[in-house]
Amino acid sequence: MKCLTHNLGFPRIGPHRELKKALEGFWSGKLTEATLRAAAKTIREQNWRLQKNTGIDLIPSNDFSLYDHVLDTCTLVGAVPGRFGWRGGNVDLATYFAMARGAASSTDSAAAPLEMTKWLDTNYHYLVPEFHPQQTFHLASTKPFDEFNEAKALGIETVPVLLGPISFLLLGKVPTKNSQGFDRLSLLPALLPVYETVLCRLESFGARWVQFDEPMLALDLDSTEHTALQSAYTRLRLAAPAVKLLLATYFGELGKNLPTTLRLPVNALHIDAVRAPRELAEVLEALPHSMALSFGVVDGRNVWRNDFTGSLKLLESAREKLGAERLMISPSCSLLHVPVSLKHETKLDAELKNWLAFAEEKLTEVVTLARLLEGAASPDALAQNRALVRSRRESSRAHDPAVKRRCEKIAAGDFQRASPYPARRRLQEAALRLPSLPTTTIGSFPQTENLRAARARFRKAQSTRAEYERFLEDEIRRCVQLQEEIGLDVLVHGEFERNDMVEYFGGQMNGFAFTENGWVQSYGSRCVKPPVIFGDVSRPRPMTVRWAKFAQSLTDKPVKGMLTGPITMLQWSFVRDDQPRSETARQLALAIREEVADLEAAGIRIVQIDEPALREGLPLRKADWPDYLKWSVEAFRLAASGVKDETQIHTHMCYCEFNDIIDSIAALDADVISIEASRSRMELLRTFAAFRYPNEIGPGVWDIHSPRVPNVDEMVQLIRAALKVIPRERLWVNPDCGLKTRRWEEVVPALKNLVAAAQSARKLNS
Ligand code: GLN
Ligand code: ZN
Repeated sequence: MKCLTHNLGFPRIGPHRELKKALEGFWSGKLTEATLRAAAKTIREQNWRLQKNTGIDLIPSNDFSLYDHVLDTCTLVGAVPGRFGWRGGNVDLATYFAMARGAASSTDSAAAPLEMTKWLDTNYHYLVPEFHPQQTFHLASTKPFDEFNEAKALGIETVPVLLGPISFLLLGKVPTKNSQGFDRLSLLPALLPVYETVLCRLESFGARWVQFDEPMLALDLDSTEHTALQSAYTRLRLAAPAVKLLLATYFGELGKNLPTTLRLPVNALHIDAVRAPRELAEVLEALPHSMALSFGVVDGRNVWRNDFTGSLKLLESAREKLGAERLMISPSCSLLHVPVSLKHETKLDAELKNWLAFAEEKLTEVVTLARLLEGAASPDALAQNRALVRSRRESSRAHDPAVKRRCEKIAAGDFQRASPYPARRRLQEAALRLPSLPTTTIGSFPQTENLRAARARFRKAQSTRAEYERFLEDEIRRCVQLQEEIGLDVLVHGEFERNDMVEYFGGQMNGFAFTENGWVQSYGSRCVKPPVIFGDVSRPRPMTVRWAKFAQSLTDKPVKGMLTGPITMLQWSFVRDDQPRSETARQLALAIREEVADLEAAGIRIVQIDEPALREGLPLRKADWPDYLKWSVEAFRLAASGVKDETQIHTHMCYCEFNDIIDSIAALDADVISIEASRSRMELLRTFAAFRYPNEIGPGVWDIHSPRVPNVDEMVQLIRAALKVIPRERLWVNPDCGLKTRRWEEVVPALKNLVAAAQSARKLNS
């Protein structure tokens, strides 16, 4: 008897980002809606055929989205906020995209888009549903039916995927003015009839299975939430008795949610066996006879080949308990989080390519595992897999004894600056001679078309290295001059040589590989191409010293050296899975530490180590936070602590909601931290009124996400607000974030205003 194979979702962007191109063409008015829809249809068809041909039994539909699956759910149930002017009926494409991207003010109804936030602990961003206490729901889209029928017309039976009602409500928010004490789950009785209708319709079109994703089960839910789950699935069960319900959880253990989950009247449960290894035995033991188990053994969040030997052992024990008829084999989660196919990588060498599996290859792994389990695959498949697992384990490319020795030699003192902050401060004051409320920027200056063109010319070997470097020097010279004219106190070189803050460093370190086409959706049409950390990380030579030194040679003011921190490097890459992330973080930290030392030796007096991704690395469950925070803070300190007391270390984070991790932020022991704050002044006040941040801090006074140039007065007001909770001698004045996405026409006046605001605030005596 053969186990069924199951896939939870496939990447939507297309093998060559066809969706991105179609969307952007449509938004810019170059493509019609029909062309966009045709492009989307082609991607779906390719995806279904590929899955079918690979041998997947349960193939998803409705996993595709023109923008985001949570937004799709909002339109499915008619949760469209009033400002979009929707009058009922099916939600049209204009309204859909207005919710995603905002409606321009040129039309009569200007409306801000839905908020966007990270999908659990991934780098995918979803649009946050907005509810209000009188919220009603209506079926307002036919997408799941259309896509099911579209596949059916191709002769492919699919499993429609819906975001489960509990997660949908819990992922949403009730805007603050309506929210006092309002419980989103109280909307469940209003919501469920729509889900029931959807399910009945799917049943009537012939769907045999429907997959409900309840990712919130990876968080600790309370008893109200458990009751809601129970009542939701009981009702859904009754609504369409002929449809089999498959409940999908992923990204973590079920933990305390396990008993409730196992009592739900569903026909199958999917679990993430990669993220919840400790729970597997318990699930197998307690799974009721009425439930099948979709066993997610192939990592859907990473790009490594599966170790068949280990997986088969798990699968065999599952089969022994459940029997083949109750066991399905699957990736651990939707494959949305990995690139489409290795087929399109022509430049990776064969060895490295052998270690990798993208979405398409992962599905092949699922099918091969099923065949191996039933004894139907050629034993070669297993032998081959063993050989490549061994090649990775033993590869001298992946394992560098020198790096391992350096890691072993790390001593407690390496995490500590020589003196505590107050002593360092005195020395830094003497060395830097900055005014009070010193002004600075976060690092990058506008990345213009001209700059991108010069970089592209160099990449395509249409210009020499010397020409490119001369071009960069000219840019830096102009930028330094401009900052001097504007009157900033701590200057930067402008980061013109970087396209991306992780790729730039990864590209110069050992242990990193880059794909040509390894795109993953970040949100809507936006995709990222994370580097792959495949081996021990080291830095063969200085990475940024040349540019920092050049910039410093042009001015007497201090120039900040700009680096990306170890946690951000880790968080925005595909990370090797053969050692703990904390170990890889240490290796990255050592490499950055060497760079910091070289910058210092080259006469750079201030070094900024950016860690915008520190917060987003937080594990889903609070119980796992302390461990993460411990090793990530250690990694930062290891990177930052090898300098003299006189050298000032800055860090930067792109948010200021760190009420709950403020102790760890303080434990980084950076001399100065700059944070995003101009839009969330209240958050800032709240955090710093309750917590006396011990070192210096620069809450942003200019919202760089908007093209608007703030005036002097506004910025003075923000400085005043900050002065209420941060002592004057520890306050810096800076923008929210880097300026690379802004235009020079905005940057110059805004920075002039910022300097004027600091000057005027210096005269305030409060
Ligand atoms: N130094 C980087 C810049 O200015 C920081 C970017 C970030 O925090 N995301 O662009
Ligand atoms: Zn930032």
